[in-house]
Amino acid sequence: MATTIDVEPLSLVLRTPFTLSYGTTDVRENLLVRLRTGDHVAFGEAAVVPYYGETTERVRAYLTDPRVREAVDRDPAQLDEALDALPPAPSSFPRAALDIALHDRWGAHLGKPLFRLWNLKPDRIPPTSFTIAMDDDEAAYRERVRAAGERFRLLKLKLGSPAGWESDWRRVQAAREATDAALCVDANAGWDREAAQAIIPRLGELDVVFVEQPLPRDDLEGWQVVRRALPANHPPLFADESVQGVSSVAPLAGLADGINIKLAKCGGLRPARHMIRLARAYGMQIMIGCMVESSIAVTAAAQIAPLVDYADLDANLLIANDPFEGVTLDGDRLVLPERPGLGVVPHAAQ
Ligand code: MG
Repeated sequence: MATTIDVEPLSLVLRTPFTLSYGTTDVRENLLVRLRTGDHVAFGEAAVVPYYGETTERVRAYLTDPRVREAVDRDPAQLDEALDALPPAPSSFPRAALDIALHDRWGAHLGKPLFRLWNLKPDRIPPTSFTIAMDDDEAAYRERVRAAGERFRLLKLKLGSPAGWESDWRRVQAAREATDAALCVDANAGWDREAAQAIIPRLGELDVVFVEQPLPRDDLEGWQVVRRALPANHPPLFADESVQGVSSVAPLAGLADGINIKLAKCGGLRPARHMIRLARAYGMQIMIGCMVESSIAVTAAAQIAPLVDYADLDANLLIANDPFEGVTLDGDRLVLPERPGLGVVPHAAQ
């Protein structure tokens, strides 16, 4: 039976404008992919992340390429064959959308949720952390931290303020006073080597669980320099922006204690599972994260969350107009749907 592919805009509106070291966002223009085979529809999503230099036009041009149409029009049971037939992509974003949709179709064809097909135990999924963006209004910031700490055991504080590491440090102190929840921080590549060396030992004193992407994406030498200068009991350092696809894992061995895998960065579930095996072989810890994405991409990532140490899958909570339902939260516990494939359904079909 023939498969057709549709590509549609997926505009995601954030509940509150989201401030990272890259700037402030209030809407994201992602793309929705539908693979139709007879009556069945499989879903995929391409995040379009402006700070990675990607554009909606370029992602759409790839997804509507006749060679892509040809590659997806294959036996739904032959997942790898369809993935291997895809033409080279301009970036990981459209590739991830097709990988997710083809996995959804494969699982539906076999009649089971993906995590069941892979024999993964949902009770192994770590609680998701919840992200607290930067805010210059200190009282409002404390209140957001306090409220989030009532529900989530682990809060991820976004740091890397243009005002410097001292301002970041004050933010962490304020958060520490506002909640008893565990704290981790993400500098989003916003510090230089000196700032990282100054703040990381202090973060350790406040029992920060880990520090994510302290340095610019390509400064691997900096990781070495900073590690050498840190006290032995420093919090684990996780790489996020420095980790893209499978080939970026090996160069980080010995530099990063852990990696943050995101389907949008690596190109989907198949490379993500490969990266998990590779990172484990290097003794690294693993976090699974997401971009500003709907329940499609977040539910896809949650399918492999039983394999990781930390889950950072709160994006669908940050969005005001998520058109889909998939993974849900019970407190801070991710609950995977038992429907076949990804198990996501449009809200209208509830
Ligand atoms: Mg990050």
